[in-house]
Amino acid sequence: MTSRIEQRCLEKGMKMTEQRRVIARVLSEADDHPDVEEVYRRATAVDPKISIATVYRTVRLLEEAEILERHDFGDGRARYEEASEDHHDHLIDINTGAVIEFHSEEIEELQREIARRYGYRLVGHRLELYGVPLAEDDKTGKH
Ligand SMILES: [Zn+2]
Repeated sequence: MTSRIEQRCLEKGMKMTEQRRVIARVLSEADDHPDVEEVYRRATAVDPKISIATVYRTVRLLEEAEILERHDFGDGRARYEEASEDHHDHLIDINTGAVIEFHSEEIEELQREIARRYGYRLVGHRLELYGVPLAEDDKTGKH
């Protein structure tokens, strides 16, 4: 079966080797934001002959083709997810590294408004929020 990312590669005319197909499938199935090491772990579980260099090259190629989006969640490791039409932003738990995806129309509008104020039409943005879990007291608002 052809994975979604492989399909997008084919549409862009990329040459797909067997190893690239495996990496494309791993990335298509990811519902988190894996770094290259994690993609490598998952890909070698399917085909142990895949090298980390091949994973790096393939991921970079996919990023250049705008099939993958790269994120930096503040720990110095590049994370990847499939580029998609429905935009979301990220909230990162700095204790565990857990990543929560969210979308806020108010923030989106506010950003467009700020750009307009300075004479620009907004064409993109990056937003990462960093947090620690609330203590029980903070959640209920009493002290
Ligand atoms: Zn995401």
